[in-house]
Amino acid sequence: MTRMTVIGCGYLGAVHAACMAQLGHDVLGIDVDAAKIAKLQDGIPPFYEPGFPEVLAEQLASGRLRFSSDMADAQGHQVHFVCVGTPQKRNEYAADMAYVDAATTALLPHLSPGDLVVGKSTVPVGTAARLSELVRGVQPEALLAWNPEFLREGFAVQDTLHPDRIVYGLPEGEDGARAKALLDEVYATPLADDTPLVVTDYPTAELVKAAANSFLATKISFINAMAEVCEASGADVTQLADAIGYDTRIGRRFLNSGLGFGGGCLPKDIRAFMARAGELGADQALAFLREIDSINLRRRVRMVDLAREELGGSIVGRRIAVLGLAFKPNSDDIRDSPALNVAAQMRLQGASVVVTDPEAVANAQRLWPDLGYAESAFDAAKDADLVMVLTEWDEYRTLDPVKLGEVVADRRILDGRNALDRDAWRAAGWTYRALGRK
Ligand code: NAD
Repeated sequence: MTRMTVIGCGYLGAVHAACMAQLGHDVLGIDVDAAKIAKLQDGIPPFYEPGFPEVLAEQLASGRLRFSSDMADAQGHQVHFVCVGTPQKRNEYAADMAYVDAATTALLPHLSPGDLVVGKSTVPVGTAARLSELVRGVQPEALLAWNPEFLREGFAVQDTLHPDRIVYGLPEGEDGARAKALLDEVYATPLADDTPLVVTDYPTAELVKAAANSFLATKISFINAMAEVCEASGADVTQLADAIGYDTRIGRRFLNSGLGFGGGCLPKDIRAFMARAGELGADQALAFLREIDSINLRRRVRMVDLAREELGGSIVGRRIAVLGLAFKPNSDDIRDSPALNVAAQMRLQGASVVVTDPEAVANAQRLWPDLGYAESAFDAAKDADLVMVLTEWDEYRTLDPVKLGEVVADRRILDGRNALDRDAWRAAGWTYRALGRK
C-alpha cells in the first residue's frame, strides 16, 4: 500500500485517485477548486464518466480515499501524482504550463526525503527535466518520474484499472531504480496482470503521449480526407474504410469518417507538439500535423454547408435539431466539441437550433446559453426541418426513424458520424445524408 496524493482532480485526476484507492492505496485528492473537492468528498462526481460514481462511493466508504483543497495536507504522503490541466495557451499553439508549474511549486515545501513526484499531465518534451531541477533544488532527496496517462474519457475507470500499457520516464542511475521501485508498488496489480511496461528516460516518456495522440489524430484525419475525395468522386467512405481496414497493417479501428476529433486532448496536444518541435528546431518533422488539424476543422464547416444544401441553400430561420453536444459519446465533456461548434455556427448564421445530449446539456448551456435546449431527441426534433446527429450516443444510433418521423416537420437527417442505419432511415421516408457518402 502506497500513501499518495493526486494533485488536480479533473477528468483524469479524480478517476486516477478513486482507482488508485480501488487498487488498495491510501489516496488524498487535492485540487484548488474547493467546490469540486466538496462535491468529490460528498461522493458527487463533478463530471459524467460511466462507472466512476460507483468507484468513488465505494472508495470514500472504504476510508482509503479523501479529498482536500489544502496542499499542506500532502505532507506525509510518499508519491504525488501531478494531474492538473495543460490547456492550449490563448492565441498560441503551445501548452499553458502555468497550472503544472503552480501545482509543483505549491507541493515543494511539503516534500520529504524519499518522496516521488510523478507527472501525469500531458506536457511538452523537456518539462520533466525542468521540474526535476525544481524539485531537487528544494528537496534534494526527492525524486521525479514521468508517467503519461492514456485513459479514454467514457472508459476512464476501465482504462485506469486495466491500462493497455504503462510507461515510466525515469532519472538515470540509483535515483531511477528508487523511483521505479515506488512506481512498481503503485502499479503492482496491473503489472501482475502482465500489463506491458516500458521503462525509459524523461523525454521518451513525454514524447510517447504526444506521438500516440498525433497518430490517432492522423488516422481520423486520414479517413476524413478520404471522405472528401469520396464526396468529390461519388464513392462511399464507410465501405472504403471497411475494405482498407481488413489489411491488418492498417486496421479498421479509428477509421470512422465523420465530424472529426475534438475534446480536451487531441486538438490541443497536436498543436502543443508542433509548437514544441518548433522550439527544438524540428518543426519540419511535424508540419504534417498542421494539415491533420485543418482537415479536422474543415469537417465542421462542411457539416454546416451540408445542412445548408439540404435546406435548399439557406439555413436562416430554419428549425434544426442537433442530437449530441459532447465531443464524444459517454462523456459530458464539451471542450472543443465538434458537435457544439457546428450547432453554434448554425445559430450564428441565423438558424433556429435546438440541441440535446444525454449528459452534456448543462455544460453546453453555460457556454452557449443562446441555443435552444431540449430534454430528449424527440423534444429537440419536434417540428424540425432538419435533424443532425453529431455525437454518436447509443440512444441516437438506435432511434426509431418511424417514430421520430412523426414529430418532425420534414424527414431530413444528416448523420455527422456515419453511425445510423442508412437503409432503415431511408425506408422510413427520410432523406439521409452523411459526410463522405453519396
Ligand atoms: P481538467 O481541466 O478536467 O482537470 C484539471 C484539474 O486541475 C482541475 O480540476 C483544476 O481545478 C485542477 N488544478 C489546476 N491548477 C491546480 C493547482 N495549482 N493545484 C491543484 N489543482 C489544480 O483536465 P483533465 O482532462 O483532467 O486533464 C488533465 C491533464 O491530463 C492534461 O494535461 C491532459 O492533457 C491530460 N490527460 C487528460 C486525459 C483525459 O481524457 N481527460 C487523458 C490523458 C491525459
